[in-house]
Order: sequence, then structure tokens, then C-alpha cells
Amino acid sequence: MKNIYLLGATGSIGRQTLEIVDKYPSEFKVVTLSARTRMEDLIQLIEKYNPKFCSVQFKKDADHLTDRFPDIVFGYGKTSLIHAATFQPKDRDGVLINALVGIAGLQPTVEAIKIKRNVLLANKETLVVGGSLVMELAKENQVEIFPIDSEHSAIWQCMQNGKKEEVSKVIITASGGAFRNKSFEELKNVTKADALKHPNWTMGEKITIDSATMMNKGFEVMEAIHLFGLLPTQIETVIHPESIIHSMVEYIDHSIIAQISSHDMRLPIQYAMFYPNRKESIVESIDFAKLSSLHFETMKEEKYPCFRLAMEAIQSGHSMPCVLNAANEAAVDLFLKEKIEFLEISNIIETEMKKHQVISNPSLEDLLRIDLEVKENIYHNH
Ligand code: NDP
Ligand code: MG
Repeated sequence: MKNIYLLGATGSIGRQTLEIVDKYPSEFKVVTLSARTRMEDLIQLIEKYNPKFCSVQFKKDADHLTDRFPDIVFGYGKTSLIHAATFQPKDRDGVLINALVGIAGLQPTVEAIKIKRNVLLANKETLVVGGSLVMELAKENQVEIFPIDSEHSAIWQCMQNGKKEEVSKVIITASGGAFRNKSFEELKNVTKADALKHPNWTMGEKITIDSATMMNKGFEVMEAIHLFGLLPTQIETVIHPESIIHSMVEYIDHSIIAQISSHDMRLPIQYAMFYPNRKESIVESIDFAKLSSLHFETMKEEKYPCFRLAMEAIQSGHSMPCVLNAANEAAVDLFLKEKIEFLEISNIIETEMKKHQVISNPSLEDLLRIDLEVKENIYHNH
């Protein structure tokens, strides 16, 4: 039985992770859980999984939960997320499943790596902001970082068909998000409700907006560089509206291996949880007789300024992806609060990136400071 330390339990990935636990109850024990605001949901999870420790954001929630569940320990705030990630530090077989959203996921990942705990990583902001630092630390501590994302899981699976040095390129697919069929002009008038209607996936609000702006694809290119040690020039992106091919790997002989499955996150989650084994899953099998066709379109950078900015942040490297991410988190938050228009998201990010003086090889402290400064500046101006 494998112990699970689960951050972001009340979210889209967190809940789907627990569905896998439900399917295989004798394989996993949920030891810690975290939630931020959805306390009723957390209470249900506590009753079902009986964890040893839970992290919440606010002291009043921790106090209330302590009264209700005296046998369970509750913590609050940032340090409690780290505590949940590193709980029972001698347990090397347990895994951290990081399904937080935003930079909140970075420090718990770093601390889990330091106690030599393998990390199943959905929280993409961890690698976007601290990719080099995190991957180096993982190498030093001989810790594995297993991706939980359909694209990176696909690349990971396809990579097992040849040697690393035989890979010529990776092709990451993109559904095109909510606005695939809209022109750049039409994007001026889109609303929050429009942006939240993703054609293929039901996900948390932040990543759904990141998919509409295509920032999500930019993030995924960054993650692939770090996870698989690729050069930026080895990565291509293509729009594939059906989201059936989740990504492809081309080898030097021009043979391309694709990973194909229904668009259902429970497959990449389960793959990471059971790796190197495969298990029966609740995910539907694909019926090729019902699939009339698959489509591919080139990604137009002029339509997706956020994607272009992500590529620029890769070129600059060092502290620039942190600025990109911080500005994106703040801008998406303002858009979700209906304080700015959709197209202002990329303008805000571009302004912050232009102002930034790149710091070489930033430390964790540098990254957290830059994150705060960029966000404070944006909130101050809006
Ligand atoms: P959700 O918004 O659905 O869930 C986020 C979880 O994190 C919730 O449990 C939430 O708590 C908690 N949380 C949010 N902010 C904070 C914070 N500042 N501090 C502590 N806890 C916090 O997100 P998703 O599950 O959709 O996404 C999680 C991560 O996985 C993201 O990085 C996303 O990009 C990535 N991802 C998601 C996919 C998907 O299909 N959803 C696919 C691939 C990657 P509460 O709800 O209680 O407030
Ligand atoms: Mg993805």
C-alpha cells in the first residue's frame, strides 16, 4: 500500500485522484489532504479517507475542524501546506501528489524533494517558475518528478519507445481552448462566461482561462523542456481540436509515436500513480469506428499573444518565466473578478516582462520575492 500526501484535494485534479484511490482502495492510503476554501467538501473527504493531517488556509477553519475532528491534526497557511507535503518525513515510499493551482505549489514541491519523496506533479506553475531549480534538486536527491498532465504523460509514454538521444522532436497538441474558432478581433468582446466554456475538458477556472489564452500551452512547452531535458527548438505545438492525440514524439528515423486516449485526466493521473505498471481504468476506450476524422491546425502566434510571451520568457530564461507566471496569475484573477477585459491579460503580462531586469540563476527566495513584487504592482494599478 502506497501512502498519498495530497495537496489541492478539493480541486478538479484532487478529486479525480481520489476517484483512482476509490477504484483501488487496497493500493493507497490517504495520509494528508489540503483545501483552501471548500470546507464542506473537505469535511466529506475527511469523513471518507480519515487522514492524519489536513492543511487549510485560515486559522478559523483549522480551529473549527479541530473541534469537529479531535483525532486529526489541522494546520493553516503556507507552512501547513509544506507540513502536509512532508508529513512523516521518513516515509520514502509515499508520494506527494501536488494538485494545487499557482505558485503556492512551488515550496511544498521543493520541501518534499528535500526529504527524498517522489512527486506526482499536476501543479504546472512549479516547473514554470522554478523548473531549473526543482529539476536540479530532484537529481541531487534522486527523486522522481512524474507529470500529471495529458500532454506530458503522453510524451512520457511515447519516450519509452526509444532512447533519449534518438528523440528528434516532441509535438505537443492543443485543443485550441474556448476561442479556437474566434478571430483576434472577436476576442475583444468575450466574457468570463465565454472563456470558461472549454470544449473538451472540465477543469479549475484558472487553467480554463489559461487554455483560452493559450498561456497553458506556453506553460506546457516550458514544463516539457524541464521534465524531459529538451531544447526549446525540439518542441512543436499543433492545434488538434478533438484532443484524442495527447502529444507525440518523433525519433531520428522520422517514426512518430503518438499517445491516444479519451480526454479524461484520470488516465494520466492513474498512469503516474501506478508507474511503471498499467492497470485497468475507468476511462472509456476509444471506438475508432465512431471517430470520423482528426484535425490539425498550425498555432497562430499573432492570435495568442500569451503563447508568444511564454516563448519570449523561454528565450530570456532565468527569472523571466517567474514574471510571466506572476503577471498571468494576477491578470487571470482580475479577469475572473471581471475587473479587466480578456485581451488585457496579455497586455498586463507584457508590461511586467518589459520592465523586468533578468536575474541569473534565481534562488527560491528571489523567485518568491519577484512573484510578490509583480503581483503587488499589478493589483496596485487595477
Ligand atoms: P482547481 O482550481 O480545481 O483546484 C485547485 C486546488 O488547490 C483546490 O483544492 C484549491 O482549494 C487549492 N488551492 C487553490 N489555491 C490555493 C492556494 N493559494 N493555497 C492553497 N491551496 C490552494 O485546479 P485544477 O485541479 O484544475 O488544477 C490544479 C493544477 O493542475 C493546476 O496547476 C493546473 O494547471 C494543473 N492541471 C489541471 C488539469 C485539469 O484537468 N484540471 C490538467 C492538467 C494540469 P479550494 O478549492 O478548497 O479553494
Ligand atoms: Mg495539459
